[in-house]
Amino acid sequence: MEITTESIKQRGKLIVFSAPSGSGKTTIVKYLLGIDALNLEFSISAPSREKRGNEIDKKDYYFISLKEFKNYIKGDDFLEWEEVYRDNFYGTLKSEVERIWAKGKHVIFDIDVAGGLRIKKKFPKETLAVFVKPPSIDELKIRLKKRKTESDERINMRIAKASVELATAPQFDKIIKNYDLEVALKEAEELVADFINPSIVKKTKK
Ligand code: 5GP
Repeated sequence: MEITTESIKQRGKLIVFSAPSGSGKTTIVKYLLGIDALNLEFSISAPSREKRGNEIDKKDYYFISLKEFKNYIKGDDFLEWEEVYRDNFYGTLKSEVERIWAKGKHVIFDIDVAGGLRIKKKFPKETLAVFVKPPSIDELKIRLKKRKTESDERINMRIAKASVELATAPQFDKIIKNYDLEVALKEAEELVADFINPSIVKKTKK
């Protein structure tokens, strides 16, 4: 099935969470996935980068080679893709979105700023694009160092990119300030519930 605006109307909605890495968007997305009433399923992306220690293939990501990635580009198989970091490509396969729609669910994306805006541009009405803002660049650095998953060089690369990404925040539908995680989680839940089905919000607000 080809993904068109018409097919989205019949299927689920698209919920995009984008942010500089270390902002807490993955934590927010995981929290939302745990709320059954939202009927969300995670869009598993395909990156060309190596698998990290605790990651699981086909659950966290579909790990593919750069050659496979380029073949998917040639075949027009991606809904969106980006070279997120130099020589590290990440993309959302059209087949992934179709897989989730076939289950009657809404799709939630944890993708970079450029990819998120691309989905919003393709499907403006069907997409809720949320930007998660960290308290500051310094706090971002502290969070990334705490993860202990990457070298200082890669952390610095992520920090440099973060400043550029922060400037795109106004292009998103909503900005969530992740200064206090509990507050950010509740805000995210209300936003998504309201977008998917306004009647759910009334129930959770009580
Ligand atoms: P990481 O290497 O830390 O898993 O992810 C790096 C960045 O790539 C994160 O900001 C993540 O959200 C983004 N990303 C993951 N999957 C995709 C995708 O399919 N498309 C785009 N554009 N970005 C992605």
